[in-house]
Amino acid sequence: VARTTALTKAFGERTVLDGVDLEIRRGEFVALLGRSGSGKSTLLRALAGLDRDTGGEFTVDGTVAVAFQEPRLVPWKRVWANVALGLRLPDPRGAAEAALAEVGLTERAQAWPLTLSGGEAQRASLARALVREPDLLLLDEPFSALDALTRITIHRLVLDLWSRHGPGILLVTHDVDEALLLADRVLVLDGGAIAHESRVSLPRPRHRDHPDLIDLRSAL
Ligand code: ATP
Ligand code: MG
Repeated sequence: VARTTALTKAFGERTVLDGVDLEIRRGEFVALLGRSGSGKSTLLRALAGLDRDTGGEFTVDGTVAVAFQEPRLVPWKRVWANVALGLRLPDPRGAAEAALAEVGLTERAQAWPLTLSGGEAQRASLARALVREPDLLLLDEPFSALDALTRITIHRLVLDLWSRHGPGILLVTHDVDEALLLADRVLVLDGGAIAHESRVSLPRPRHRDHPDLIDLRSAL
């Protein structure tokens, strides 16, 4: 669904992306790791088509949905209306409320975005991305503000949606365990390019103590 060839991006004199070659196929779950400031969010913004000012080439086939690192909810629309925004379905409100129920936010559907906690806002933003059933799903640290229990539930939800609809997923995370538990392929962005790539060929569901995962973790 997505491919970049020698993608570059500079902010003034600073080159942040310096030749990123990347391919994400339909039905593939890819995790992207990298130090803070390495350009992960910049790469996602480019793939989402939110940045016209990039060098190199990229193509995306089909629809894209993004859950941003900072949940971007429209403050003057209620939570459900944020999730329903621009949805072309017969019952956008019903679909939005169902998606909010899946992320455990039924009770907050009528709330104003500014009254949500950090983790609630993240889940609302995730619901807004999931309900679109996109061909390419870009997730920028969507679980960082969630407690451990909610995170497990949401992992399951994302895997479930992914196996039902088979989008390509690119998940940015700082959590190596999370990357290895969820992804088929783990990429490391460093020095403006993909510096490392690991395939994870274990069947799901995976357990974090699986010996192969322990090996892979130490290789990253
Ligand atoms: P984190 O893990 O902290 O989210 P990241 O890998 O997502 O980091 P980016 O947000 O992509 O990093 O930023 C990469 C670099 O580009 C950083 O040094 C950042 O300061 C710089 N940068 C990002 N956006 C801009 C901008 N609009 N103008 C100038 N510099 C920017
Ligand atoms: Mg980022």
